[in-house]
Amino acid sequence: MGHEITLIPGDGIGPEVTEAARRVVEATGVDVEWDVQNAGAAVMDEEGTPLPDRVLASIRRTRTALKGPITTPVGTGFRSVNVALRQELDLFAAVRPALALPGIPTRYEEVDIVVIRENTEDLYAGVEFERGSEALQELRSELRSLAGFEIRDDAGVTVKPISVSGTRRIVRFAFDFARRHRRRLVTVGHKANIMKFSDGVFLFTAAIEAYGYPDISFEEVQVDELAMRLALDPQDQDILLLPNLYGDILSDLCAGLVGGLGVVPGANLGWEFAVFEPVHGSAPDIAGKGLANPIAIILSAAMMLAHLGEQNGAAAVREAVARVMAEGEVRTGDLAGTSGTEEMAEAISREVGALVSE
Ligand code: NAD
Repeated sequence: MGHEITLIPGDGIGPEVTEAARRVVEATGVDVEWDVQNAGAAVMDEEGTPLPDRVLASIRRTRTALKGPITTPVGTGFRSVNVALRQELDLFAAVRPALALPGIPTRYEEVDIVVIRENTEDLYAGVEFERGSEALQELRSELRSLAGFEIRDDAGVTVKPISVSGTRRIVRFAFDFARRHRRRLVTVGHKANIMKFSDGVFLFTAAIEAYGYPDISFEEVQVDELAMRLALDPQDQDILLLPNLYGDILSDLCAGLVGGLGVVPGANLGWEFAVFEPVHGSAPDIAGKGLANPIAIILSAAMMLAHLGEQNGAAAVREAVARVMAEGEVRTGDLAGTSGTEEMAEAISREVGALVSE
C-alpha cells in the first residue's frame, strides 16, 4: 500500500529544495502520493493566515509531512508557523543528526552528533507580553505583589515554562532513541545553576529518568561549556538532549561542524504525527536562484522513509548522497562547488535509481 504524505513547499528556497526531495523520493520507487499544501508568507495575503486549517487537517489525515522552510517576520508580524505546527500537532521531539559525510570539507572529521531538542516548551512556548501592553502592566503588578519582583516599565517579557511531564517524555524519547540506534551517551545541556526552576526541572527530570537506562551513559553539562566542548572536541559528543532554545542554537552550531545548514536534516516527532524538515530556513539571500543545497531536505526525506518503514528506500537515499559527495563533482556553492539545486537533485536521483535496481 502507498504512503500519503503532506508536502509543504514553504517560502524562499523551500519550493526549490522540496521539488528536489520529491524527485529523489520518487527515484526510490517507494509508492508515495503527495498532498501538496502551501503555507507561510506565500499564502498570508490570499488566505489571511500563514497556517490555514487545511494544512493541519491534511497532516492529521496523512500523519506525515515533508516540509520546506517557512519565513517568520522578525520582531513583529505573524507568529512562527514552524512553532505553531509543532505545538498544534504536539511534535515534542526534534531530532537533528549532524553527521560528517566523506567529501564535504569540514574542520573536524568523524563528527556524528544527534541533537534531540524539546520542541514545545521553554522560551518558545509563545507566552509573551508586549512592551507597554495592558496585560504586561497587570503582570508587573502581580509579580511585584507576589514576590517583590520589579520589572522595568519599558521591558517586554517572554515566559519560560518547563514542566516535569514535558521533560519526561523528551528524556525517554532520547534514551529510547539511543538504544534503538546503539548510541552510548546522552548529554544534557542546561543552565540550572541560573534558572533553577525551569532548567532545574529539565535537569533533575532527566537525571531521574536516566536511572531507567543503565546501559546508556548520562552526563550533564552547562550549555555554555557544552558550546565550548563542541568547538574543541566535537567528535567526543554523541546525543545532545536540550531544552527548546538551546537545542535551536546548538543544532546550527552542529550543522556548522559538518558542512553547514545545507546538509543537516531534521524530524519533528510526536505520538501521532511526524513532520520532516531541514534545520535551515528559507534563505532569502539565495531564494529563486536555483543555488540552494537540497541535501538537508533530501536527508530529511530519508528520515521520513525510515519512519514509514521504508528502510531500503531510506538507505538508498543516504548512500546516494554519500556517493555524490564523495565523488565531489556535483556540489552547490555552500560546499565550495558550482552546481545548482537541480543538478544536485539529478545526480542524487540517478544514484538512487542505480542503487535500487542493483
Ligand atoms: P537560513 O537558514 O535561511 O540562512 C542562513 C544562511 O545559510 C544564509 O546565508 C543562507 O543562504 C544559508 N543557507 C541556508 N540553507 C541553505 C541551503 N539549503 N543551501 C545553501 N545555503 C543555505 O537562516 P535565516 O536567514 O536566519 O532565516 C531566514 C528565514 O527562515 C527567517 O524568516 C527564519 O525565521 C526562517 N527559518 C525557518 C525555519 C523553518 O522553517 N523550520 C528554520 C530556520 C529559519
